[in-house]
Amino acid sequence: MATAVLALQGAFAEHEARLAELGEKAFELRGPDDLARSFDRLVLPGGESTVQGRLLEELGMLEPLRERIEDGMPVLATCAGLILLAQRLAAHDDKGTPRLATMDVTVERNAYGRQLGSFHATADVAGVGREVPLTFIRAPRVVDAGAGVQVLARVDGNVVAVRQGTQLGFAFHPELDPDLRVHQLFLSL
Ligand code: GLN
Repeated sequence: MATAVLALQGAFAEHEARLAELGEKAFELRGPDDLARSFDRLVLPGGESTVQGRLLEELGMLEPLRERIEDGMPVLATCAGLILLAQRLAAHDDKGTPRLATMDVTVERNAYGRQLGSFHATADVAGVGREVPLTFIRAPRVVDAGAGVQVLARVDGNVVAVRQGTQLGFAFHPELDPDLRVHQLFLSL
């Protein structure tokens, strides 16, 4: 199996580093030509979801990736990546920016009030393990999830980790902590 990391913008290098620690050499998706390479797994990094969504559309990468994900390709989506996967955004967030929209969730961006900047927490994450370190940076939260979506973790009542089939969505940044368990789960899909 080969792993691709979307590398248009954001924290993609950190994901590559975590994957490398697990012996997985990922390659970067930087443009439409890279879609011709063979890959079976995809990482959608944190960053700025509006920029990433627009670039994906402009580069003609949105539709091909959406099809692959809908066909069951495993995806690890963190922070902005989770926003790109969401089928719906909270009304005040939805400016019609292009998204992959493959996961049956509603997401609110920058959802933590006075902790808008960043904060750390620890939580048990179903399928990942106990006391997983969580780093949040201007993070989203899942405000509504369809019946096919499993909630994996909550922090202060907010849903911060979800799974729908082989799509994993995390509001935090597992690539910024040394704990490798989230990436291990992804590689096991
Ligand atoms: N606030 C960003 C957005 O809306 C996400 C932040 C992040 O990925 N760290 O896209």
